[in-house]
Amino acid sequence: MRHRHPDSPATEHLVIVGNGMAGHRLVEALVKQPGRPPRITVIGDERVPAYNRILLSPLLAGEMTHDALTLNGADWYAEHDIALVLGERVTDIDLQARRLTTDAGRTLDYDRLVLATGSRPAMPPIPGLDLDGVHAFRDLDDAAELIRFSRTRATGHGGRAVVIGGGLLGLEAAEGLRKRGLAVSLIQRDDRLMNRQLDVTAATLLQRELESRGLEVITEGHIAGFEDDGSGHVAAVCLEGGRRLAADCVVVAIGIAPNAELGRTAGLEVNRAVIVDETLTSSDPAIHALGECCEFQGTTYGLVEPIWRQVEVLAAHLAGEAVDGYVEKPCATKLKVSGVSLYAFGPTEPDADHEVLTYHDPQQGDYRRLLLRDGRIEGAVLYGDTAMGPWYFERSLAGTDLGPCRQALLLGAADAQLLLDSPEPQDSPLKEAA
Ligand SMILES: Cc1cc2nc3c(=O)[nH]c(=O)nc-3n(C[C@H](O)[C@H](O)[C@H](O)COP(=O)(O)OP(=O)(O)OC[C@H]3O[C@@H](n4cnc5c(N)ncnc54)[C@H](O)[C@@H]3O)c2cc1C
Repeated sequence: MRHRHPDSPATEHLVIVGNGMAGHRLVEALVKQPGRPPRITVIGDERVPAYNRILLSPLLAGEMTHDALTLNGADWYAEHDIALVLGERVTDIDLQARRLTTDAGRTLDYDRLVLATGSRPAMPPIPGLDLDGVHAFRDLDDAAELIRFSRTRATGHGGRAVVIGGGLLGLEAAEGLRKRGLAVSLIQRDDRLMNRQLDVTAATLLQRELESRGLEVITEGHIAGFEDDGSGHVAAVCLEGGRRLAADCVVVAIGIAPNAELGRTAGLEVNRAVIVDETLTSSDPAIHALGECCEFQGTTYGLVEPIWRQVEVLAAHLAGEAVDGYVEKPCATKLKVSGVSLYAFGPTEPDADHEVLTYHDPQQGDYRRLLLRDGRIEGAVLYGDTAMGPWYFERSLAGTDLGPCRQALLLGAADAQLLLDSPEPQDSPLKEAA
């Protein structure tokens, strides 16, 4: 459905709260719009302008320098006539007065407000979570602290790190610290790594690969608490069942919690995150939300791909352009651990009506498993050679009937496409070759 800006007067002053990946991308999109609001203010509580948060993982692993994370500097905002306020946290929004307040006591009136406050690491209620040496992995400060720690403890000092959480973020943190020379144990509560994306076979291949590099992986590990070294610093992670893992550094990466309190306190409709409609408008027509702090039709976000689509919709909407509303689409997952290639989307477990196609070459470490329903792909897990991943994903989104290229489906995109395009599949070149 195409939407036009509500028939309110044009936005004079747009304020964006949060200078993270969504807020920054929104500003970049807005400056390209002829109908951009004449006055834009961005307020972020981090001390530096927005950076590429995704690249914190390669930064931690020592595969990238700090400079590579830079998006636009403060001068770019000035050039585009955008006021950038950094190091200040918005603490209060008065919906009636359309006024916000920051922790520095600044007040600012707005015509339209965008919440792009992202999320924070979810912290489990574990005794000892406040000890020194227990970290999250969300921002530049976290990455800097972990890098500093690994520099002082890695060489010859027997530095030991424990990472809690065997999802994407936990794995990237664990590999980063291992590459920096620490002895790392990773604790995963589930019975396999990346249980939301991988089936047992792919998760086992991944675990073996990481273990062969020296990472200790503990699955079905339940944390009982953290041990204090007597000076307020963490000394160990204790598991239920009595096992004790010595640790000078702990990274908690068990998930994220949307930063929705600002909207909730102001009186916006909030569930897990700020509820928005297909124009990214909250329950107050003057306030929008996007990125990890918003919730659309019960979905909250943790990857940038859908957020980029939200940005396009909201930028056009704010500039008064007619625009198709935001729609939810499936996402594919990749892991940023160098030397490990995996690609996955859709359900991890087949249901009774799924047809399961599998290719496994243990020698090469290649694994592909497809879940088909009525000849259409609903899910895929690829480990090793993932070249076919995007091809499967596109066909899955398009709902293409892959019956005609079934025999080549697991072999390669070129072969499968050839059969798919062939008007008479029975005369396909593959069959002739066979
Ligand atoms: C290490 C790491 C690796 C990742 N890798 C990937 C990946 O490979 N692929 C992928 O798709 N996604 C990845 N992600 C997730 C991706 O970074 C997020 O989905 C994305 O950053 C969300 O953008 P956002 O703007 O909603 O939130 P953020 O980028 O977190 O930005 C929110 C900003 O708002 C600020 N803020 C919060 N409250 C206030 C307030 N009251 N006042 C002012 N400012 C405030 C925050 O400090 C922050 O700067 C990764 C995340 C991390 C941490």
